[in-house]
Amino acid sequence: MCPIRLSLLLLAAAALPLRAQRGRSAAPNVAPMIAGIDAASAHYAGVARRIWELAEVGYQEEKSSALLQSELRAAGFTVKSGVAGEPTAFVAEYGSGKPVIAILGEYDALPGLSQDSVPVRRPLKAGGAGHGCGHHLFGTGSVAAAIALQRWMQTSGAKGTLRMIGTPAEEGGSGKVFMVRDGVFADVDAVIAWHPASSN
Ligand SMILES: [Zn+2]
Repeated sequence: MCPIRLSLLLLAAAALPLRAQRGRSAAPNVAPMIAGIDAASAHYAGVARRIWELAEVGYQEEKSSALLQSELRAAGFTVKSGVAGEPTAFVAEYGSGKPVIAILGEYDALPGLSQDSVPVRRPLKAGGAGHGCGHHLFGTGSVAAAIALQRWMQTSGAKGTLRMIGTPAEEGGSGKVFMVRDGVFADVDAVIAWHPASSN
């Protein structure tokens, strides 16, 4: 399955509590969301590719974070950057009230793992950073899911707050710890995240 389409897992999981709040037991109709993700797959592949090429390590993901923020802002999210004293952390929000459902996205690279997009070891820059475990997909897939879910909220009338949280420095920098300490998750009812891997 295309990694971007894995964000459907996030969509389905995040939509359920929003739907449940409306007092209906039926599962949300994800078909239009799937179609929307498919239609935008080339665009999101380009976003992921750009973050792959930027390969910015923890707390230095300035351009990667800005790119994801601009996607969310263009879609109509209210975006706050530099939260919890972390310049590359951000919170993008849509809707209001309960429940508050958060989707997490990471976008930091690893030092020393510079790599061309080929299945053999081929550094693009000797000693440079690279996306060793797919955070270029992580951030992009989560943003794609958030935007698709936002569109579903708009068409279905589902109430609640959708919060896409950009969490820096997962690779040894404990970015989320400072965000928790600063209360970013204090009113969040559920957090949904994923990670690229070779299996579901
Ligand atoms: Zn990772």
